Amino acid sequence: MDIGKFTTIGFIGGGNFGKVFRAKDNLLNVERAIKLISVQNPQEFINAINEAQILEKCRHRNIVDIKEIDIHQIHNNLVPCIAMEYLSKGSAQGFLEKNFVTVKKAIKITSDVLFGLEHAHNEGIFHRDIKPGNILFSDNLTAKLSDFGLAYGLANQPFAFAGYNSHLPPEVLEGVEQDELSDIYSLGITFYRLLNNIRTLNVPYANDADWLNAVKREKFPKREFQLHIPKSVLRAVRKSMKPNRNDRYKTCLEFRQALQKIRLAVNWSYVSDGHWRGKCGNDNYELIRYSKRTGYFIDFKKNGRRDNKHCCSQIPDEITAKKEFFKIIQETTLRI
Ligand code: ATP
Repeated sequence: MDIGKFTTIGFIGGGNFGKVFRAKDNLLNVERAIKLISVQNPQEFINAINEAQILEKCRHRNIVDIKEIDIHQIHNNLVPCIAMEYLSKGSAQGFLEKNFVTVKKAIKITSDVLFGLEHAHNEGIFHRDIKPGNILFSDNLTAKLSDFGLAYGLANQPFAFAGYNSHLPPEVLEGVEQDELSDIYSLGITFYRLLNNIRTLNVPYANDADWLNAVKREKFPKREFQLHIPKSVLRAVRKSMKPNRNDRYKTCLEFRQALQKIRLAVNWSYVSDGHWRGKCGNDNYELIRYSKRTGYFIDFKKNGRRDNKHCCSQIPDEITAKKEFFKIIQETTLRI
């Protein structure tokens, strides 16, 4: 399909508000992602323009870069078309669905987004729809915040409730407030999902009151964490998703600095139960748990050779062996 100077190459996906295509800009001879926004009424037209203006205001290496907005006539309709840099490596949602997300990767994605979000907040803009699907990767795997379709903060832009998603804090569900702290909470839930490799997060409640109640009491999402995550990382993620606004990080900077303080060593990945592989610089690590007649054993290998410092033998029961296994992962994630 030809749209002005663009020729679409393929359909990428469609959100609530429009369709995104991979396209070629025939004049500049570059690839772009173009978002065609469906507008039913004048207010939606203004919203589309607002989205583009917000992206223009928020230019940053961790925010998807807008190139231009134009209005095109397609099948007798006037359609706003936002041209953006084309991010070929998919979204954090796509990554979650296909890969094991390591602690290091979860921290990297969250820190990248915090840089972009901090910039948006400094410009007076709230994103209001942070979730793994709205985080995209550039060629060098820098994470960028995208989809500012629900963002708010332009002068003269009337405040409108942004709608529902499972990453929202209690104050938004109550319709009371929506600001920097609400974005921090939604990013906190995103961080929690990345760390725990939670591919989907649906709201399991039939009515809004039950949902709100569960969010307030930290029952949704469940504060259950995978056993390989070190305590210092747990402290950070728990703080970012506190229902009580006073207990949350106050700013993106504070959240990011807390993550920066966490020094990382071995980057462990799940292979199978009782078998993990890790990497630190040029070194490869392996942790294997197995049982014999005499009890449970844990082998810790560095570059294929057993390293007795972390090996365990003849552990009497499986529960203790598991505990020891994840203790080694937690410790070596931070220090080797
Ligand atoms: P919703 O609006 O409900 O959040 P969505 O995130 O799917 O849904 P869009 O932001 O419109 O909606 O994106 C549609 C698809 O296009 C998604 O798969 C998204 O990852 C992809 N996409 C958006 N912008 C770009 C871009 N600049 N480069 C590459 N892909 C993009």
